[in-house]
Amino acid sequence: MTLVIDGHSYLYEMESLCDVFFPYEKVTAVYGDGHDDSLLVYTGYKEENGEARLCVRVKMEERFAEKQGVFSLKEPDFERQCGLAMAVLLFDILVELTGYRPAWGVLIGVRPIKLLRKLTAEMGKEQAAAYFLNSLYVSKEKTELSLRTMEHEQPVLAASRPESFSLYISIPFCPTRCAYCSFVAQSTEKTGRLIPQYVELLCNELVHTAKVAKACGLRLETVYMGGGTPTTLNARQLGQIIDTVSGHFDMRTCREFTVEAGRPDTITEDKLRAMKERGITRISINPQTLNDTVLRAIGRNHTTQQTLEAFRLARQCGFDNINMDLIAGLAGDSVESFCRTLDGVTALEPESITVHTLALKRSSHINQNGRVHFINDGKSAGEMLRYVNTVLTKKQYIPYYLYRQSRMVGNLENTGWAKPGFENYYNVYIMDESHTILACGAGAVSKIKHPYKEELQRIFNFKFPYEYIGRYQEMIDRKDKVKELYRQFLQSSTNLTN
Ligand code: SF4
Repeated sequence: MTLVIDGHSYLYEMESLCDVFFPYEKVTAVYGDGHDDSLLVYTGYKEENGEARLCVRVKMEERFAEKQGVFSLKEPDFERQCGLAMAVLLFDILVELTGYRPAWGVLIGVRPIKLLRKLTAEMGKEQAAAYFLNSLYVSKEKTELSLRTMEHEQPVLAASRPESFSLYISIPFCPTRCAYCSFVAQSTEKTGRLIPQYVELLCNELVHTAKVAKACGLRLETVYMGGGTPTTLNARQLGQIIDTVSGHFDMRTCREFTVEAGRPDTITEDKLRAMKERGITRISINPQTLNDTVLRAIGRNHTTQQTLEAFRLARQCGFDNINMDLIAGLAGDSVESFCRTLDGVTALEPESITVHTLALKRSSHINQNGRVHFINDGKSAGEMLRYVNTVLTKKQYIPYYLYRQSRMVGNLENTGWAKPGFENYYNVYIMDESHTILACGAGAVSKIKHPYKEELQRIFNFKFPYEYIGRYQEMIDRKDKVKELYRQFLQSSTNLTN
């Protein structure tokens, strides 16, 4: 599709909305009028007599629609409000032409709750909710979900201090690659031989990172081992990593240590015991669906029976804080089948359930659906999430973190639900960017947060295991920059107070 940008700088906003309605189309942005395509979005801006005149036209095969708007140049916060006005024009036209109304309206960005909190601080909760509804076109249902999530994440956020940090450990290996995966995870068939060396180097990086954290005077709040599938490693390797963390970081302030076990087919009794004996507080067992036909279609080589067995084993080994991940909008899944999955999972009574909406990235294997199909998928995924909201609320789960990704089916969201007291602090901190995350392993990104300001610096590790191994020292040198950054942050804070 062609997106025409004529006389303005709202490319990001326009392109993001095109992605919401047509996620499978490659958007080509061109500048100035006079372009054509079977799917063409024209967005124009010009100033006349002290006013901004906005014009949006969309041609979708044989259909055509146009809307215009006039905007005062004297409007406070002109740039932002004008961009929003243009987004609303485009949104209205696309709703009219496609018959589809995305529930998050023109709200772009991955952290709606952070935005809601900022608006609440500026104008109060009621006005902030009204802004979501009336200015951003967020549906009533999603505005309410956002308000509830904001309320429940508040105590978790309040527990973070300026000197707090969390530790993330990346295990970028999986038994096979799921069809929808966009992550850097490598199947063990391809890279399994690298695992022993990877684990050794990862442990060295953890030792080094512990020294960096100590030198910066940081206080450990949470640890999260994710992936990939951490339980692709054997019990000895898992034990070695956990022991390295416990032996080198100051664990006295650590509230939780999560291992995202992930795929049920990798979970065995010896691994569970290795984790439990070492004080892992929370694990995640991720069925994604309890429909075996869908599981086969998405390339996850496990069955519902294996999920149930892994859950039973985990309980038997003493885990009293288990999360289960589900995905709404999987190819081949129906609303009825998804509802059966949710019923099956709630019957197990895990302490938390995280419901993702499928996000198709351009790099994933099943990114080939057509335009109309996507809209139908979006409607079904919307119904699935409505069922989640009803059932989990009834069963006393609370929504405590929420985020969005680009190209999610129906432009919906991912929400973490937990029984009160079982909220995963790490998930809230990473989404809110509340404090520093020191991240180790391939594909990991450390986020160094200014203790007193909304300023964040990223330090990237190499993405793939073979790069991680081959250029290890370079990456360790990058970690040392954390100390320099903290020195600068503290220096700037001292200057502020002087
Ligand atoms: S388990 Fe997760 S990280 Fe691994 S291949 Fe599947 S989607 Fe990707």
